[in-house]
Amino acid sequence: MSSRRVLISGAGPVGSALALLLTEGGTPRDALTLIDARAAADAESDPRLIALSEASRGLLERLGAWPMDSAAPIQTIHVSQRGRFGRTLIERSDYDLAALGYVVRYGELARAMNGATAKLGLDVRRPARLLHCEALSGEVQVTLADGPDLDAAYVVHAEGGLFERQSPLSIRRDYRQTAITGVVRVAHPRVATAFERFTEEGPLALLPAHRSDPSQYALVWCCTPEAALRRSGLDEARFLEELHAGFGDRLGRFLGVGERATFALGLNAREDVARFREFAIGNAAQTLHPVAGQGLNLGLRDAFILAGLLVEHLDAPLTCMQRFGAARRLDRTATLNLTDLLPRVFASKLLPVAALRGAALAFLDLVGPARHVLARQMMQGQR
Ligand SMILES: Cc1cc2nc3c(=O)[nH]c(=O)nc-3n(C[C@H](O)[C@H](O)[C@H](O)COP(=O)(O)OP(=O)(O)OC[C@H]3O[C@@H](n4cnc5c(N)ncnc54)[C@H](O)[C@@H]3O)c2cc1C
Repeated sequence: MSSRRVLISGAGPVGSALALLLTEGGTPRDALTLIDARAAADAESDPRLIALSEASRGLLERLGAWPMDSAAPIQTIHVSQRGRFGRTLIERSDYDLAALGYVVRYGELARAMNGATAKLGLDVRRPARLLHCEALSGEVQVTLADGPDLDAAYVVHAEGGLFERQSPLSIRRDYRQTAITGVVRVAHPRVATAFERFTEEGPLALLPAHRSDPSQYALVWCCTPEAALRRSGLDEARFLEELHAGFGDRLGRFLGVGERATFALGLNAREDVARFREFAIGNAAQTLHPVAGQGLNLGLRDAFILAGLLVEHLDAPLTCMQRFGAARRLDRTATLNLTDLLPRVFASKLLPVAALRGAALAFLDLVGPARHVLARQMMQGQR
């Protein structure tokens, strides 16, 4: 048996955060291995823009893995519904925070995390794709697609992934929505303000995308798969016209759009995040609809809790298994339910539901406590 205690499969943001947290907790370098199927340069060129909460920023900054120079702060979140008056504002000043959250480029985050693991001299192997695991009595044996077998006391699955490419898990819903993403430029920016607008096709989010150029917004436009296909093929002028029709006038005219990408959206989650000597965290445990920007934030909380358990109970696999599942239940359930409900309620054409959602937004705006519950869930999840 080797001295390796923890093998983390997937050096994306969640797997890397776990490695950094374990090291911070005193796990020796030679007890830890990270493997990843793709080259670092691939991850570092991923253009996806991701909203992270203030709590996630705090964690990543502490771990020396926060892309400080490029993160664009969000100080106000404006939530509205197309064709209805209801709207609600969530303001940083209500929570006494420097920002409600930040928008970062996945590639910049990957670079910061790779820099932090390299600085600590951690054992990171790429490309190395996990094919298969087998838990034996005192260890887990790991078969790789592209190298000799490895063994470890624990294997953590942080292989992440996108809904359309994952094997189906026990909790699954296809929303029949596709997100079109890209960076747009607007005529009348509102500094540090993010917009989440619910339309009958799905939510449309515009997030401040650049720290020093407020005219750049990250677009996540959830539409039917057919509309997404058609819109992706439109020329720039027609695309921006349709976007204006969907979003309205709050940011003035749309002046341009960069490269567009599409992502099929669904919920794909497992009930058993902990098995004997094996754990699943991040998107390997749950892939969510991107509404309200919850996926990576939730994954980082998975990593935080698991690191604490492994540091404290490294020689007690049964305890780790039982406590991890229990410790993640409330936060996972609340976040899964929120991101599962929002895109369906707002996309429903049933009249009673349509009437209720305008009322729901007005309610959120009028009743402070309800807005705070939503804001807190978005900022820090359930602890
Ligand atoms: C359009 C869109 C918008 C989003 N917006 C937000 C947002 O605003 N806020 C937010 O919090 N989240 C958002 N998300 C979700 C977020 O991108 C994910 O939750 C996050 O990337 C998950 O991180 P991860 O480390 O678990 O997985 P990943 O980022 O997928 O990383 C997994 C890593 O594992 C590696 N890997 C895969 N298979 C293997 C294998 N067999 N062996 C070894 N390595 C392997 C991969 O190469 C990769 O490096 C969004 C997602 C989409 C699609």
